[in-house]
Amino acid sequence: MTIGSQGRILVTGALGQIGSELIPALRARYGEDRVVAADIRMPPAGAGKGDSLFEHLDCTQLRQIQDVVRRYRIETIYHLAGLLSAVAEERPQVAWNVNMGGLYRMLEVARQHRCALFFPSSIGAFGPTTPRDGTPQDTIQRPTTIYGITKLTGELLCDYYFRRFGVDTRGLRLPGIISYLTPPGGGTTDYAVEIFYQAIRYRHYTCFLRGDTRLDMMYMPDTIRAMMALMEADPAGLTHRNAFNVTAMSFTPSELAAEIRKHIPDFAIDYEVDPVRQSIADSWPQSLDDSAARTEWNWAPNYDMARMTSDMLDKIRAKLQSTSTV
Ligand code: NAD
Repeated sequence: MTIGSQGRILVTGALGQIGSELIPALRARYGEDRVVAADIRMPPAGAGKGDSLFEHLDCTQLRQIQDVVRRYRIETIYHLAGLLSAVAEERPQVAWNVNMGGLYRMLEVARQHRCALFFPSSIGAFGPTTPRDGTPQDTIQRPTTIYGITKLTGELLCDYYFRRFGVDTRGLRLPGIISYLTPPGGGTTDYAVEIFYQAIRYRHYTCFLRGDTRLDMMYMPDTIRAMMALMEADPAGLTHRNAFNVTAMSFTPSELAAEIRKHIPDFAIDYEVDPVRQSIADSWPQSLDDSAARTEWNWAPNYDMARMTSDMLDKIRAKLQSTSTV
């Protein structure tokens, strides 16, 4: 088991879609005082109140990382800070600097302080020449987006730090993540979150991807479970350390709309395709083969599209009701 009983865990990009749910889960499992949250943004007023373990940290600044890791005696790092696919394509130079510069510095600090490091790769690490159906664990990777290039390079760099320096690096190739707590940060699969809010509020959604665009997705509870399970897995069983394909469902916008219609019969969807995000989606796989994760550390999702849809609608309705009564 990687996460021992003493040292602390650092989560960068803590205020993002994934970090905001990973932190409470880690604190529930390992103890409140063992998880340090860090982000380049400050928590919104009220949200981080009482969180004495929040650090303002720019992951491209080596000194800042060293200071936090030393002060808290960090043993494990979940390095989530980064720019997502659509945002990265708008600002490729910044994306390279944050995604690659940030990861390189985190790895250097992990090497110096003997920390384990989790790196979230993505289905974006594949490209148009990758087999799109049943995408194998080990296959052609020629991504055409700056996001994908940083994710593929990150996978290789993590492998290198393990082989060359013995840093305990591990990672997942995450599909689109669906959740209701924190809005997504500018990815190509954001439609699969927005659609639920619009369905409840207006019974109508205009989707920025074509109706037949099939992509892998995963519900947040499965994502958090996968990240924690991989970091706890017996290293002796791991062959693919840094880039495990993981998926839970694969659907198109029109299939998701049909599933929502089972709960909201008059829900309607139409399409205004954004050429940038459509071309990113068209370069990604349609369905991953995640058998390596299933074999090497017993990965199995709990949520399919039907179960996720029902839970999202319940949770968002409750959230909108509680905010409207405040
Ligand atoms: P997000 O955009 O919601 O959050 C990213 C966080 O990083 C933000 O809070 C931002 O303030 C912070 N950040 C940006 N630049 C920083 C810097 N220089 N220093 C410190 N913090 C900085 O992203 P997310 O959805 O939570 O994703 C987390 C990670 O998972 C990313 O690496 C992303 O590429 C990867 N991932 C996400 C998805 C998804 O669908 N959400 C899918 C595959 C992979």
